[in-house]
Amino acid sequence: MDTVKPSPNNTPAQINIRTMARENLAQWLEQNNEPSFRAKQIFEWLWVKGADHFDMMTNLPKSLRVRLEKSFVFHIAEVDIVQKSQDGTIKVGFALHDGRMVEGVIIPTSKRITACISSQVGCSLQCSFCATGQLARDRNLAFSEIVDQVRGLNRFSIDQFGRGLTNIVFMGMGEPLLNLEEVFRATEILTAEEAMNMASRRITLSTVGVARGIRKLAERGSKFNLAWSLHAATNEKRAQIMDINKSNPIEKVVEAMKEFYARTKRKITLEYILFHKFNDSQEDARNLVKIAKEFPCFINLIEYNSVVGVSLERSTPIRSRRFLEILTDSGLEAHIRRSRGHDIDAACGQLAGKNND
Ligand code: SF4
Repeated sequence: MDTVKPSPNNTPAQINIRTMARENLAQWLEQNNEPSFRAKQIFEWLWVKGADHFDMMTNLPKSLRVRLEKSFVFHIAEVDIVQKSQDGTIKVGFALHDGRMVEGVIIPTSKRITACISSQVGCSLQCSFCATGQLARDRNLAFSEIVDQVRGLNRFSIDQFGRGLTNIVFMGMGEPLLNLEEVFRATEILTAEEAMNMASRRITLSTVGVARGIRKLAERGSKFNLAWSLHAATNEKRAQIMDINKSNPIEKVVEAMKEFYARTKRKITLEYILFHKFNDSQEDARNLVKIAKEFPCFINLIEYNSVVGVSLERSTPIRSRRFLEILTDSGLEAHIRRSRGHDIDAACGQLAGKNND
């Protein structure tokens, strides 16, 4: 892990200990004439044993615990509201230390249990079909708040289904590539052998197409999966529903995706919500084929879930099937993803952290 940036909400005397990287803990210990090996012990208490108070850190001397107590606070994203869908999907609202709220979702299937997690409170991008986009971006999540969602959802998964999470997707509230450093730090904890030990290939970052962020992932040789929420196959149509297309048009993102594939050899997932008579015609499908032939990919066609105040509607089964056939007839790997958790507003594009109102 690299540099520590204490949360802007803290005074210098009250740094959130859970924003400290191991190296910075070691630095702090050194400055306070404590042995730096204690950093490993503190790190383990924080990220392996899940300590939420310094008194729990029983292998540290009492004098050090008192010092830590004076210099740091614990900010933990706590499970607050839980809703269960008829189809088994569970939505969890997490209360943040400053009274804000984000949502995460558990999606169980026979083979896997996926957690969909948030990276920001609200979102600055305001895609017209998305409930989160109706909230302004409030703030980025700290990496610890991202990790807390995974830990909280993992506990629920074990409790409800008898097994832990198998996959993580950054597809909840916010655009992860606009909070990339905190997302990177969170994934370091999630994948660290001595912490949560999840395989990188089980983690997917989903972006609306922030070319600069995609290139950064490529440069780091990222082992994560990458999904591109495309949702329209021409710049003209895409700009009507996604503001990001004005600064990051399709061809610019395609170039970044090619670079990502060249460096990582990981196939990209294209996410495409089918909107009735907006982007579900045969011509739209042929335009999507052209984009999808630019780099190795899978295509997920997604059923739209209504959002209050949005006039776009879900495509019909006949139009969706015809659209799918055009893709598969062109030799592309594509399927229609059924909507989950619709009855509790937990499906794609429906997360709005209603308690942030
Ligand atoms: S789809 Fe993603 S990027 Fe667009 S408004 Fe919703 S959360 Fe933000």
